[in-house]
Amino acid sequence: MSAAIAFPSCTMPAAARALRDEVREFIAAEKPAGTHYTESNPEFSRKLGARGWIGMTWPVQWGGHGRSTLERYVVSEELIAAGAPIFFHWVADRQSGPLLLRFGTDAQRARFLPGIVRGESGFAIGLSEPNAGSDLAALETRAQRVAGGWRVSGTKVWTSNAHIVQHMILLCRTAPRSADRRHGLSQFIVDLHAPGIRVNPIKNMAGQCEFNEVVFDDVFLPDDMLLGQPDQAWGQLISELAFERSGADRFLSALRLYTAFVDAAGADPSAAEAALIGRLAAHLWTLRHMSISVARMLQDKAPELEATIVKDLGNRFEQGIVEQCRALRPAPVPGTPYADALQQAMLYMPRVTIQGGTPQILRNAMARALGLR
Ligand SMILES: Cc1cc2nc3c(=O)[nH]c(=O)nc-3n(C[C@H](O)[C@H](O)[C@H](O)COP(=O)(O)OP(=O)(O)OC[C@H]3O[C@@H](n4cnc5c(N)ncnc54)[C@H](O)[C@@H]3O)c2cc1C
Repeated sequence: MSAAIAFPSCTMPAAARALRDEVREFIAAEKPAGTHYTESNPEFSRKLGARGWIGMTWPVQWGGHGRSTLERYVVSEELIAAGAPIFFHWVADRQSGPLLLRFGTDAQRARFLPGIVRGESGFAIGLSEPNAGSDLAALETRAQRVAGGWRVSGTKVWTSNAHIVQHMILLCRTAPRSADRRHGLSQFIVDLHAPGIRVNPIKNMAGQCEFNEVVFDDVFLPDDMLLGQPDQAWGQLISELAFERSGADRFLSALRLYTAFVDAAGADPSAAEAALIGRLAAHLWTLRHMSISVARMLQDKAPELEATIVKDLGNRFEQGIVEQCRALRPAPVPGTPYADALQQAMLYMPRVTIQGGTPQILRNAMARALGLR
């Protein structure tokens, strides 16, 4: 069965429009130190938690705020556009919390969700390994059944924020590999401070520690940390993808460069600069509407195909900003806002088409969903 692509148009409700002003005022008053949403500042996350801007759509019963996906969209869009340092809680808010809501037990929800909502508890994603990235079903980390729980050994890599957050949602093999390689995988909630876990930070191209190698050496995980059904995690994992791939983080990460370019071009841009500014604005407008449409759909379902399209087009757009601005203004005066933004974007941008799925993998997924392969 093939899916059809649908991006229904949607209008922001009045509550979401009012919220946008509120978030802008908050950012202007707080002036959080940071220039990019991938920076972490636990104190700022706690302030956002206190405002009710984490776990916004989650049920009140579990500490959430019962608001709409569009209201959440407005808050995250404003924070990302402002380069606010939200990464400490971002993964937990975007996908670990929704996963716990969907597949966790009531005891797990009660234990983990309120801390996320308060901005006190961050999560990492433990999928990729040295020999398993795009081909995730090739992963080798194993959990063996023992009395009262499981014992885990193996190595994860690229694990963003594992050096500063408390928990990881780990994917590992719990049954021998069979003809169906996707069977036999399970997810666990892991306390990253448990005995036997070593978190080794890795420096990125900008010299910052942002992701890690995480080594599990015979780590005990109690039974009550199994998330969802044993051996059935593949389906659970797929349900995360629509949350992971469709947000404003997938196309706004070079916004600072775009606005600095517009400022540098000034009131009298060259014809080529004016054309680029207009073209990028048109693409941004379109992507934004597609992303908002997915946010609206997330209220009731998981539109994986549309989310995948947003990520693929969004990443190409972001990388295009860097290439095209640099082609027109290649040698900025050091220390100017445009020079700083260009340097940051050049160091950041190669990753966007690797993290969260490469273009080849996204296009394979789209082709499958459309019945083309
Ligand atoms: C900044 C950053 C943060 C990350 N954070 C996390 C994290 O927090 N948690 C986590 O688990 N992972 C994380 N990742 C890992 C990321 O998900 C993987 O890097 C990604 O899935 C690609 O896997 P790989 O690096 O092993 O490349 P590979 O899978 O080896 O791919 C190499 C190349 O081969 C291509 N390729 C592979 N298979 C196919 C195919 N079937 N058809 C066509 N082409 C193919 C790919 O497109 C790519 O170009 C992060 C990555 C980055 C860059």
